[in-house]
Amino acid sequence: MGTPLTLTVAEGVAFMNLIDGKPADALSGARIDVASPSDGKVFASIPASGAADVDLAVKSAYKAFHEGPWSRMPAVERGRCVTRLFHLVEKHGEELAALESRDTGKPARQGKADVTATMRYYEFYGGAADKIHGDTIPFLDGYTALTLREPHGVVAGIIPWNYPMQILARVAGAALAMGNTLVVKPAEDASLTTIRIAQLALEAGVPEGVFNVVTGYGRDAGAALSAHPLVDYVTFTGSPLTGTAIQQAAAINNRGVTMELGGKSPQIVFADADLDAALPVLVNAIIQNGGQTCSAGSRVLVEKPVYERVAAELAARFSKLVAGPHDADLDLGPLINEKQRDRVAGMVAAAKEAGVSVLAEGSVHADAPRGGYYQAPVLFGSVDPQAVIAQEEVFGPVLALFPFEGEEEAVRLANSTEFGLVASVWSKDGARQHRVAKRVRAGQVFVNGYGAGGGIELPFGGFKKSGHGREKGFEALYDMSATKTVVFNHQ
Ligand code: ADP
Repeated sequence: MGTPLTLTVAEGVAFMNLIDGKPADALSGARIDVASPSDGKVFASIPASGAADVDLAVKSAYKAFHEGPWSRMPAVERGRCVTRLFHLVEKHGEELAALESRDTGKPARQGKADVTATMRYYEFYGGAADKIHGDTIPFLDGYTALTLREPHGVVAGIIPWNYPMQILARVAGAALAMGNTLVVKPAEDASLTTIRIAQLALEAGVPEGVFNVVTGYGRDAGAALSAHPLVDYVTFTGSPLTGTAIQQAAAINNRGVTMELGGKSPQIVFADADLDAALPVLVNAIIQNGGQTCSAGSRVLVEKPVYERVAAELAARFSKLVAGPHDADLDLGPLINEKQRDRVAGMVAAAKEAGVSVLAEGSVHADAPRGGYYQAPVLFGSVDPQAVIAQEEVFGPVLALFPFEGEEEAVRLANSTEFGLVASVWSKDGARQHRVAKRVRAGQVFVNGYGAGGGIELPFGGFKKSGHGREKGFEALYDMSATKTVVFNHQ
């Protein structure tokens, strides 16, 4: 191959890994076809990297960390590199949005929103690099004790396919700002913008070897990366099962991890809520990105006096939702691949068979290409809190509605799954807003709203099975560094 990476999304473009600042094919020469979820047609390919490619990338990152200028560079200079990356993402925003949209099937406007959020990450972390510092600690007489925040070293970032560019940015922004070097393994279903952004990082002045990308399957490249002995820290966003496998692999080397593993997030609507404000938000919280969002609001809990009204109004909205190809920019795009579509369709069919009541279904546009992976939205009502559809993450446009009576039951239902990522509370009662926000076990709680809308400044992460560690905001800078305590004896 050896073809340099091109900027356009021309048919059949062969994308390359980026190792030590140079494009590289997999040593085996194996490739993975990249198909657009909108029509199932192949338009590009990526290297199917294996353990040997990962080894080269990790060694490059290791060398860049220990021998290169990056980790010794003044924080302000590092920050400027990240800020230049922000400006380059802005400059190439249209290409990046189109590439992301075509690669993942997400509607065009979502691709643009993802670019906006990506820019904010690099802007925020570029500015933050020289604003994080340690402490001095009152200690014994004759001593001075202080803490330094030190980079881990080589950070492995294993990225999912739902918001690849944004999730890469939250990992890379924070990791680079703290002076780490990176090896990123994007998802086999959505690697293209990661390769492109790593190239832009080089252009921004991030030295060779600091930001490496190795594409390939999780079981090959991903597994080799998480178990590599020269990797100092692993950060992962994806499914709980894969998260467990990655933690086990990292445990072989006793390395730290950040895990963001999805949710079954409740949106709690009390009878006194402003329903006109709530209804469109309740729908968007599950429909955005076709429901393929870790923080999707996939359960709506409604207080009994307004349950029938909310159910009827949501049903009216759901029946009008239409899925179609990314460039048609409809309510939602296709799901990422055939496997996910079949999985979601299977869960919907099983719930129907188990007798869960369907309140409404949206549709797939009549002109949507036959080869695309479409799933019409489904609204289930009066769902049993123990039903599969109430407990498991569907990762598709499927919303489950539950009636409740009073605050106690609302909190109990909200906390009745194994997950704890995000929640919302809809009520005009200020005291109740505070009470419920405190009692719900979730990493983020929104009152009279839902979703961070980017929210780069807001720490994000899970309780329970949703994971551990925090991304976004300043907290991510702590996850991406370690405290070193230095004690001076000057008696
Ligand atoms: P899905 O099951 O929808 O593909 P995953 O959570 O498995 O979602 O994938 C998220 C990321 O994890 C992808 O980059 C994928 O390649 C990677 N991955 C999958 N399996 C493993 C594994 N065993 N070790 C490391 N990474 C993996």
